[in-house]
Amino acid sequence: MFEKILIANRGEIACRVARTCRQLSIHTAAVYSEADSGALHTALCDEAWLLGPAPARDSYLRGDRILEIAQACGAEAIHPGYGFLAENAGFAQACDAAGLIFIGPPAAAIAAMGSKSAAKRIMSEAGVPLVPGYHGEEQDPQILAQTANEIGYPLLIKPTAGGGGKGMRRVDEAVEFTEALASAKREAAASFGDDRVLIEKYILDPRHIEIQVFADRHGAVVYLFERDCSVQRRYQKVLEEAPAPWVSEALRREMGQAAARAAHAIGYVGAGTVEFIVDPEGEFYFMEMNTRLQVEHPVTEMVTGLDLVEWQLRVAAGEQLPLSQGELALRGHAIEARIYAEQPHNDFLPAPGRLDHLRTPQAGPHVRIDTGVRAGDTITIHYDPMIAKLTVWDRDRASALRRLRHALAEFQVAGASTNLGFLQRLAGHPAFAAGEIDTGFIERFRESLIPAPSRAPDQVLAMACLAVLLRNAELARKRAAASSDPYSPWHLTNAWVLNDDSHQMLHFRDEAGDIAVTALYRPGHYLLELPGGKLRVCGEREGDTDIRADLQGLRVTATVIQREAELIVLWQGLSYHLHLHDPLTVGMEDEIREGSLKAPMPGTVAQVLVAPGDEVSAGQPVMVLEAMKMEYIIKASADGVVEAIHYQAGEQVSEGTELLAISNNGRA
Ligand code: ADP
Repeated sequence: MFEKILIANRGEIACRVARTCRQLSIHTAAVYSEADSGALHTALCDEAWLLGPAPARDSYLRGDRILEIAQACGAEAIHPGYGFLAENAGFAQACDAAGLIFIGPPAAAIAAMGSKSAAKRIMSEAGVPLVPGYHGEEQDPQILAQTANEIGYPLLIKPTAGGGGKGMRRVDEAVEFTEALASAKREAAASFGDDRVLIEKYILDPRHIEIQVFADRHGAVVYLFERDCSVQRRYQKVLEEAPAPWVSEALRREMGQAAARAAHAIGYVGAGTVEFIVDPEGEFYFMEMNTRLQVEHPVTEMVTGLDLVEWQLRVAAGEQLPLSQGELALRGHAIEARIYAEQPHNDFLPAPGRLDHLRTPQAGPHVRIDTGVRAGDTITIHYDPMIAKLTVWDRDRASALRRLRHALAEFQVAGASTNLGFLQRLAGHPAFAAGEIDTGFIERFRESLIPAPSRAPDQVLAMACLAVLLRNAELARKRAAASSDPYSPWHLTNAWVLNDDSHQMLHFRDEAGDIAVTALYRPGHYLLELPGGKLRVCGEREGDTDIRADLQGLRVTATVIQREAELIVLWQGLSYHLHLHDPLTVGMEDEIREGSLKAPMPGTVAQVLVAPGDEVSAGQPVMVLEAMKMEYIIKASADGVVEAIHYQAGEQVSEGTELLAISNNGRA
């Protein structure tokens, strides 16, 4: 086994590889770009080497730099993770030439699978079923159009160099073909520098089922069963699970054996995935082979109890596969959800941003979190916007799905837009629960999965109000404590005097519009007038962001993150973004600091500390206001003379009321 390896990647996969290395006592060297200087993966490895500027082509794609670093740091092997250089045959070859072991298949196997059309020819010779279509060299538009007519519609045009769903075009009728071909070629040229395409019959209502394979240098090949990755958006996976619903033992074996044949055919070594498209009748066709570890490998790990990175390392070090086919068994059910910083309602566009708050569910035998970020990190425009992978396991699919819903509800992110709400609706969808999945699932249920923005529920508004009210009260108390005699009898003052008229208006704005809430002050609680009716609430803060509340007898906890006028309420797994528009409340901190003579909240004048004619200096306490059992010290903003006292002790004042007048340098 290796003493030291270099991990030529970033984010969650770099962290994940580092974790196994640590378990196996293998030293790790990380590489990082300037944008990742504080990234988690650099901390999890034993050392970290700077590659270059943020753009991938200047950093994580710099194979030459990575090889130099590997040699300089004494690594024996390089783990490429997925993406970046993982399927770059040239890089695998360069590793060989430099005397370093590439933890992946031989360069020739990567090259063989790098072109979808070349891969199809090899697979067809190995007896692996292919989607009917054309994958020859011919690229003349007219000839391709003729071929398309022979294949029949609907069909799919795919770049042969493709990946990530880029440049794929579904064509339903012959009249659309020429246009779609030109557009596919343009996108292929732009994305891959190669505009060649192939044509496939479009399989209706298909499922994407892939087989995990593993091969060693001694000729052994096994399959580690299947993953169903049918739930996709823009031809990209969102939820993956193992085993695939409705796949029989016989089909599993048949597909597994076909995948193993495919691996054999190209002299495969290491971890690979053979992707199939499966029609509703259970006929399966080879789509492509990914010659690396997949993003969704954790579901396979959870149902087999294996560590695939450990297998990769052992195989790369020349060991035999740890288990034979007969020793491999499926246990239970696992589902992975990919949590992205993106906007589902905006065609799932990435939404970079700073993760102001990140709290993940408790990991354990049933819940696994793979992430490369921490609270405070930024999801940048430079790389994949994935925040984390959440994988759950249980005895059967229904139990695993329940775990998933529960864990998603506990997953908290604030700062960047995420697909968490979307994932929740997906995981809660009855058709998903019934296993009625195919690649059109998200499109079919788009309306219920991505509903139009709706107003935040009353309970969420109540938590937001409570957060604001408690924060204000707390601020006032702190100021009171800081600015007055700690032995002052004012700290022991009697409870808030009941006054039905004391209230505060809170104005919020959310995705769906403006909302006004009236908070009436009552002994020991607030009575909130919410859009849906009145609610009696009280509560307290627990730590920095959590609020424990009693909503008319219902005990709940929510996380509320407040940044200036922006509030993010994390409630039952969903996040609500509210903008607070309330000058008195928002600006209270400043107003108090500047010594405003206005009441920041409705309350009672507890004590007047000065008399008309008194000379006061800036910052001197002049009045004590009591509200919500808290004291607010009203201080003079500048040196001056007290002109008039508008309210005496015991009098009620409403928010914004001028309490007294101080002339300073002739200005009242
Ligand atoms: P890429 O390499 O760009 O990811 P794939 O060949 O893996 O492209 O296909 C991506 C997705 O496109 C599949 O998971 C499936 O949902 C859909 N797809 C691919 N081929 C077909 C087909 N022949 N018929 C219907 N859908 C297909």
